[in-house]
Amino acid sequence: MRPRWVDFHCHLDLYPDHSALVAECDRERVATLAVTTTPKAWQRNRELAENSPQVRVALGLHPQLIAERADEVALFENLLPQARYVGEVGLDAGPRFYGSFAAQERVFERIVAACAEQGGKILTIHSVRAVAKVLTHLERHLLPDRGHAILHWFTGTASEAKRAAGLGCYFSINAEMLRSEKHERLVRTLPVDRLLTETDGPFVAVGERPARPRDVQQTVASLAKTLSMPAEEAEALILRNLGDLARAGRHNP
Ligand code: MN
Repeated sequence: MRPRWVDFHCHLDLYPDHSALVAECDRERVATLAVTTTPKAWQRNRELAENSPQVRVALGLHPQLIAERADEVALFENLLPQARYVGEVGLDAGPRFYGSFAAQERVFERIVAACAEQGGKILTIHSVRAVAKVLTHLERHLLPDRGHAILHWFTGTASEAKRAAGLGCYFSINAEMLRSEKHERLVRTLPVDRLLTETDGPFVAVGERPARPRDVQQTVASLAKTLSMPAEEAEALILRNLGDLARAGRHNP
């Protein structure tokens, strides 16, 4: 069944009803990338998504967990040949995580190099206060030929966005990003053929509850307003972009 919506970054395993969410993604035709924060979650996520036409699982090691879990990069590397999608990975130089920043960079560099060596991986990347560093690692090893990168919840500057786009990065846009005038302005500067949508649930709320993949419909509607295009056009654009990305990933060696 062809997808109708795209949630390219959701932590399905952080909801109490993980398996019900997988069924919901299938029913609502939301192509969903289930990101993970530790490689220990890979197996269970794979089992739950095994028969799902819409849910794909990404192998992850979240930068905010590196202070306690840097050792898990070895497990990550062991599992990587099984994974086509990678995330959540990246760097976080915010005040709460800056203490582990050197370790984060060592881990991220290993992850990016391993992805480049295997080729054809699609990465969803966290880059809080660290866009320039993230791009430098990607540029050194991965882009543009050895893999594909999606900057999730991008909050960098316009010139960083331009640099990322020049390297071939995609950007996944969530509801929170469209709530601020400043971020809306930034979204308008991104190349439209590199836009995807995401919920980043459960870290983004819809009203009083955590966002679910099906809520991405509202994000497409808001994005359409931001870009001054009809909602159906934005819906088609996001699906086309997902198709381009998936085809490009397959053609990589
Ligand atoms: Mn996330």
